[in-house]
Amino acid sequence: DPGLKSYGQLESKDIFIAVKTTRKYHKSRLELLIQTWVSQAKQQTYIFTDGEDKELQLSAGVNLINTNCSAAHTRQALCCKMSVEYDKFIESQKKWFCHVDDDNYVILPSLLKLLSSYHHSQDVYLGRPRSRVMDRSVSVRFWFATGGAGFCISRGLALKMSPWASLGNFISTAEKIRLPDDCTIGYIIEALLEVTLTHTHLFHSHLENLQKLPTDTVLDQVTLSYGGFENTRNVVGLVGGFSLTEDPTRFKTVHCLLYPDTYWCPKLKGG
Ligand code: UDP
Ligand code: MN
Repeated sequence: DPGLKSYGQLESKDIFIAVKTTRKYHKSRLELLIQTWVSQAKQQTYIFTDGEDKELQLSAGVNLINTNCSAAHTRQALCCKMSVEYDKFIESQKKWFCHVDDDNYVILPSLLKLLSSYHHSQDVYLGRPRSRVMDRSVSVRFWFATGGAGFCISRGLALKMSPWASLGNFISTAEKIRLPDDCTIGYIIEALLEVTLTHTHLFHSHLENLQKLPTDTVLDQVTLSYGGFENTRNVVGLVGGFSLTEDPTRFKTVHCLLYPDTYWCPKLKGG
């Protein structure tokens, strides 16, 4: 596997990357990921969806998991997917659980490099910080990693989350506090287990202005994203062999800078 690189002890096969998607985004979002970064990490990427797609499974040879969760964009449906992601990770025996959305590009060498500086048996929760104040009789404030930017959890910590996260418990935990899936993860880790989120700004969602990311640092980031239909211009400001029309998300441009030998990448002139 030419995509397999090792930094110190950690190998890319030790990472479980969960991609959350929904049936209606298989064509518009997932195909681009499969064409780009997922193609370099087929063994460790698990795509969690809510509908059958035999064609995609056969043609792409990816791990496509039908969660049987509802395809609605509700807290319950999204927490149902997170719950299945968690259970599949525990089952996998891999060292790290990383979650991303279907509008994220994962820069695999950067991810491996970042995780290599921690140990999977320690309590590690990595992501882009957001905070939440829960107002009950006493107010509880905790940090959580923005789901839309992706986050990672070590196996050691994931195992400690089990009473509130495994086998459907995640759904009950989320229902109890009535918060979205990514907040619920933060609540279990920071509020219940008292483990602190390691703040990193290497993870990016389209909630931030991606144009502001210095172009010479783009390939050092761990995740990237792009704006929805309303704001298609919220993309990283990288130029390369593809125009904005050919590559509106800039993911192909990023991919060809990382893996220039890919057959569909523009060949360098004079090369
Ligand atoms: N998603 C889902 N079910 C839905 C709608 C969205 O699982 O009914 C997933 C989608 O595939 C993506 C994530 O939820 O991975 C976030 O969706 P989106 O990017 O559309 O919304 P955002 O919250 O980023 O505005
Ligand atoms: Mn999104």
